[in-house]
Amino acid sequence: MPLTETAPTIDHSLIEATLSQVSTHDPKRIREILAKARELKGLSFDDLPPLMALRDPDLLEELFDTARQVKQQIYGNRMVLFAPLYISNLCANECLYCAFRASNTGLHRRMLTQDEIAAEVGALVDEGHKRLLVVAGETHRAADFEHTLEAIQTVYATAHGKANIRRVNVNLAPMSVPDFRRLKAANIGTFQLFQETYHRPTYAQMHIRGRKADYDYRLSAIDRAMTAGIDDCGIGALFGLYDWRFELLAVMAHAAHLEKTFGVGPHTISVPRIEPADGSDLASAPPHAVSDQDFRKIVALLRIAVPYTGIILSTRESAAMRHETFALGVSQISAGSRTSPGGYADAGPDDGAQFSLGDTRSLREVVQDIAGLGYIPSFCTACYRMGRTGADFMDLAKPGDIKTHCEPNGLASFQEYLEDFATPDERAVGESAIAKVLANLDDPQVHERARRMVDAVRKGKRDVYC
Ligand code: SAM
Ligand code: SF4
Repeated sequence: MPLTETAPTIDHSLIEATLSQVSTHDPKRIREILAKARELKGLSFDDLPPLMALRDPDLLEELFDTARQVKQQIYGNRMVLFAPLYISNLCANECLYCAFRASNTGLHRRMLTQDEIAAEVGALVDEGHKRLLVVAGETHRAADFEHTLEAIQTVYATAHGKANIRRVNVNLAPMSVPDFRRLKAANIGTFQLFQETYHRPTYAQMHIRGRKADYDYRLSAIDRAMTAGIDDCGIGALFGLYDWRFELLAVMAHAAHLEKTFGVGPHTISVPRIEPADGSDLASAPPHAVSDQDFRKIVALLRIAVPYTGIILSTRESAAMRHETFALGVSQISAGSRTSPGGYADAGPDDGAQFSLGDTRSLREVVQDIAGLGYIPSFCTACYRMGRTGADFMDLAKPGDIKTHCEPNGLASFQEYLEDFATPDERAVGESAIAKVLANLDDPQVHERARRMVDAVRKGKRDVYC
């Protein structure tokens, strides 16, 4: 299908009309929607506004409970971990909330050489990471795309002993279909791109220079990625720029467009909230700051509205907020992150950072913390290496069959982490978490598969997956 026929549009009048319809408090209707959500079939556009408007504490608790149930049923105790790898903070755009914006002349600018990238990857591999998200500013120079492609190669090629990075996702500026094809050929996992705000007038105010000022070019980027064959794509909004209710409905509309056009919705949805950024007054006082309670609602609503789409939470959020939202729906988190190029290998000050972090703990601390909470930290990279991407992944995920892979893979990948990186104390916490999950695996076949895989890792095998 030619791209022009498929390009998404965000119908502002429809979203505004849908939002303005909610007036009465109707517990019966709320409970009907929550019952529908518990069937794991997702929600429609019209179901969301009454839930967004909820204030009644009991009904709110019912919403959060429903989200917890959906999360538990589909994702169990697994929590996928990754780290961002900033390869460059050079940028020609002017996004008012970002420290990398062109006019921020005080920022220490740097594009890492391939040797520096290898040093960063080495530091991340030595901590136990297996999944990275490559991130860069946007310079509009063709040579810099070559640099990015080379960087991805460098990441995959950097191994320390048996440890290496097994999945590279990317968060990069929109590109053309031919460039997306080259990105796919570089073996990326997910292509991630946030619309920042789906509200066109706000978008224009926030992005005042450079290629990113073009709202439509950005909105249609995931279509181009899918057209180029990248079928695992991540979308999101930067919460705080405009009314979160509008953004949530727009994210749903974008997801529905992808599903309708390509037969597969987004693989992940990210929920970044604006954090303070060097030299940006706007980042310190976002025009539509999202309260903690509304943020919990955002995660819970996404979880029940699109149950099979992963939700990604970054270290922008504090450890406390991360704990709460894990149960409400988050399925992937970054850990031990730095948001400046060179931030992992260099011990010096983080003076080229994109924004400040709410959670500055190391991977080790995060792993210990979440294992103590009963989660299985997962470093699994099986799906994309087994070709289970896009519609193939969703076909398995929707009837719940993906769990038969995810449970054993998550456990085996965590066992590998414990063998290679954990201290004896951490290992004790981790082994007991693994034993508990194994004991609770109801399906005898899944249980047996998981037990065999974990044993194989204990005996020295690495990169065990199914
Ligand atoms: N430069 C590319 C772009 O803008 O799409 C890709 C990388 S950009 C560094 C990644 C994301 O960082 C942006 O999409 C934006 O949502 C997020 N970001 C920028 N400034 C931020 C801030 N102050 N707080 C939280 N997230 C921020
Ligand atoms: Fe550049 Fe991306 Fe930051 Fe905008 S958000 S200034 S495009 S790095």
